[in-house]
Amino acid sequence: MKNIHAVFNGEYKDLDKIKVSPLSRAYTFSDSVYEVIPFFNENIIAFDKHIKRLSNSCSSLNIDADIEKSANEILHLISSSNLKNGYVYYQISRGVDSLRSHIHNNDLKEESFGYVVSHSFESKDLKVAICEDIRWQRCDIKSTSLLGNVMSMNDAKNHHCDEVIMHKNNEITEGGASNVFFVLNNIICTPSLSTNILPGITRELLITEIKKNGISVEEGTYSVENLLEAESVWLTSSTKGLAQVSEIINQKTRIKKNNKIFNQCKSIFDRAFLSSC
Ligand code: PMP
Repeated sequence: MKNIHAVFNGEYKDLDKIKVSPLSRAYTFSDSVYEVIPFFNENIIAFDKHIKRLSNSCSSLNIDADIEKSANEILHLISSSNLKNGYVYYQISRGVDSLRSHIHNNDLKEESFGYVVSHSFESKDLKVAICEDIRWQRCDIKSTSLLGNVMSMNDAKNHHCDEVIMHKNNEITEGGASNVFFVLNNIICTPSLSTNILPGITRELLITEIKKNGISVEEGTYSVENLLEAESVWLTSSTKGLAQVSEIINQKTRIKKNNKIFNQCKSIFDRAFLSSC
């Protein structure tokens, strides 16, 4: 495999040369946060929003991180990669304990790590499963503690699905690694941020762009039945862009591919962020 360009605690090296302590709190507790920052045609998409969310995630966990240093490392990974299209994965952990203990010392030094890889932003249609949202109450924090998402997405993969759409007490929340949009009676709907979801940056960019184009979006709480009545469903994320759902397994739905409103939203988004000119 080709070398992957990476950084660990400020030192640039190939990904497979990085060595971490097993007492890193990223390893013992998932006491760490992350971002995935996409770039297309060498333009970073919503860089400031990703940095702001990284900073918010650190603040929520009281991780005292040098965000400016992280921002510079992300920029350096991208500029030195010679890649046109790709993304940076970047994570900050609270640091390394002297022995594993839930309660951390206050003088730990943050541990940061990132790498850059190429990525094609071609959309793929998605087959999804609906499942119960089994996660904790702070899904607004972009923490690496993602076992709920990991378990649900791997269960779904065993049923040949690419993603899941989760619900809590029958209210739609989000995808396993994405936010959910759907069209119901010609209205674009998406669960509001008060439904314990990640404030997705692609979600926010899409809402802003389509509103700029005079199309309205409703943010609210929606039931599984609402989703199943939808004419079109799509998922958003930094690496997927807008990806339409072609099938929800084990459910009767009215979904048709290439719905007019979906196509309109996708071309607005692609023109704003993924255009080659
Ligand atoms: N929700 C979850 C649970 C995610 O993991 C992601 C992708 N990181 C998203 C939503 C989409 O967020 P973004 O558009 O910022 O990539």
